[in-house]
Amino acid sequence: MEKAKRTEISSLGEFGLIDRITQNIELHHTSSIKGIGDDAAIIEAEKTQVVTTDILVEGIHFDLVYTPLKHLGYKSVIVNLSDVYAMNAIPKQILVSIAISNRFSVEAIEEIYEGVKLACKKYKVDLVGGDTTASQKGLIINVVAIGEQERTKIVQRNTAKEGDLLCVSGDLGAAYMGLTLLQREKQVFLNAPEASIDLAGNDFIVGKQLKPEARKDVIEFFAEHQIIPTSMIDVSDGLSSEIMHLCKQSNVGCQLNEEHVPIAEETYNKALEFGIDPINCALSGGEDYELLFTIAAEDRTKVKQHPDISIIGEILDANLGVKLFTKGGNYHDIISLGWNSLKDED
Ligand code: ADP
Ligand code: MG
Repeated sequence: MEKAKRTEISSLGEFGLIDRITQNIELHHTSSIKGIGDDAAIIEAEKTQVVTTDILVEGIHFDLVYTPLKHLGYKSVIVNLSDVYAMNAIPKQILVSIAISNRFSVEAIEEIYEGVKLACKKYKVDLVGGDTTASQKGLIINVVAIGEQERTKIVQRNTAKEGDLLCVSGDLGAAYMGLTLLQREKQVFLNAPEASIDLAGNDFIVGKQLKPEARKDVIEFFAEHQIIPTSMIDVSDGLSSEIMHLCKQSNVGCQLNEEHVPIAEETYNKALEFGIDPINCALSGGEDYELLFTIAAEDRTKVKQHPDISIIGEILDANLGVKLFTKGGNYHDIISLGWNSLKDED
């Protein structure tokens, strides 16, 4: 088999590398007046701007043993776009900064950027700049995303009201089960390198972990149906933690109905196989990048037209607390566990 080509970064130098990775950048928006190539990008804002950033650190947020570089580039953009959508805004520009050690070849960095460019194309965002630096060991990727929306349509997380309905897009817990499976297979491999890694039949959960999507379609649905959620947040740390943020910041309580929490069959079955209660995957899993939002009760029929939105609960007075109403008919306090708590269990 032919060995993959490896060009050392030192042979190109910083500017050579930047030139290589920023080739063929297409700009979609007239608001992107100047992209890569000057000291700063120039953006002609048409509406109110929202700006967000997320940093991904090797060994903390991703493991290159089972994360393809192209997927990593893609995901690093998606997690930021998800935050922009969670404000009910439309992402328009991103900046991508990377810190890389000489462990990585020019080809490896190009693969990361293939993923970045794919996400830009799919979500119609312009890569307008970034920064490139050496690091001693690990790989770090930082993305800044800029979006826009009319001031009155921007949705925050602190504005849920008693009587509103709590909704979520898609299904939950799959990315967590994907991660659990990848980590198990990594362990199998480390213990017995001759053993073969078996991910067959798990495309759905593994895909949700390695190549998540952001819910652009849900924001477009809101615009088409003249829905403005009363509050919104994206599900990055697990449903329980996001519900707690929303309720605390809005100073309200809530009842979450276990029966209505959407969990895909693949997630459900894999959780049982691993001895995890499926509802805990949804509550504490994280990295779903679905949208959790509240709507006024009169918007119920509008929201019901979307096949992929579930009404999972109701906003209550703060004195009633934040509760899970179980399938068995019991009430439990929802505590903000976050996804690390699940990992610590096993
Ligand atoms: P400066 O010295 O002014 O920081 P740089 O040489 O770092 O400029 O960058 C030159 C141009 O390339 C700038 O427009 C910058 O935004 C862009 N750029 C640098 N690194 C990256 C990167 N990793 N991804 C995208 N654009 C980049
Ligand atoms: Mg720079």
